[in-house]
Amino acid sequence: MSREAFVNGEYTAYKKSYIHIEDRGYQFADGVYEVFAILDSKIVDYEGHIERLYRSLNELRITSPIQKKSYKFHIKEIIRRNIIKDGLVYLQVTRGVANRDFKFPKNTKSSIVIIGRGIPSNYYNDNFNKGINIKTTKDLRWKRVDIKSLNLLPPVLAKQYAIDNDCEEAWLLDEDGYITEGSSSNAWIVKNKKVITRPVSNSILNGITRSSLIKSLMKVGYQFSERRFNLKDIKNADEAFITSATQFVMPVITVNNTKIGNGDVGKFARLFKEIYFNSISLS
Ligand code: PMP
Repeated sequence: MSREAFVNGEYTAYKKSYIHIEDRGYQFADGVYEVFAILDSKIVDYEGHIERLYRSLNELRITSPIQKKSYKFHIKEIIRRNIIKDGLVYLQVTRGVANRDFKFPKNTKSSIVIIGRGIPSNYYNDNFNKGINIKTTKDLRWKRVDIKSLNLLPPVLAKQYAIDNDCEEAWLLDEDGYITEGSSSNAWIVKNKKVITRPVSNSILNGITRSSLIKSLMKVGYQFSERRFNLKDIKNADEAFITSATQFVMPVITVNNTKIGNGDVGKFARLFKEIYFNSISLS
């Protein structure tokens, strides 16, 4: 099977898929993206991701290059053409191709790319059973990280810093010493059976997995609190975990080399994983 991508209205061989050198995504990171998890060839939380895509586009005043209803068709087509059972689909929209100039170009059509890839079905569960390690570092991002923009250099550096320290994810610290979120995930702790995560604002991305988990927790009447937490709270926490479209609910076993709880995957992470998957939306 040869992989295929959707690039500006056409399905092309992945190996021969290109964008223009003056695409503003390449020149200025002037664009937005979404990552959709695929389970059993179906899209997880499609509506939430597409609503957030439109919010990001509106905030940056980029016009969608295709009709809203066409997104699902093309994502499904990428799943079908690449025979993806479990995996992810990455979708990117930029302000388009124009002579390099900071100001918005006039009469330029926005660009779109959709790519997908399969992930082995046991990959998530294997990682879940191991848990992940976190390294904290300063949050160096811009002040509108609620927009899922292509401006990703600070999280790239933060993630690499985590990797260089034998960790899988970085948690970012704001100027007051509170965790904003992960480099590519939302951050959570559990204390005395209460689950805690930072409230939505311009300083975090409103994760679709975060929202889904909160809805699922509320449905089963589970106690939860949206508040900031710092390194001291983490030290005293019974458990910690992250959420994202690619990692779902993923337990954290250490932060800065200090064990969370007894340093094993905890019972709440298992419970929340089950609660999350029980009310997941697939389309
Ligand atoms: N925060 C950041 C900074 C992210 O990059 C991501 C992943 N895209 C998330 C949170 C989690 O969002 P979602 O659950 O929608 O994948």
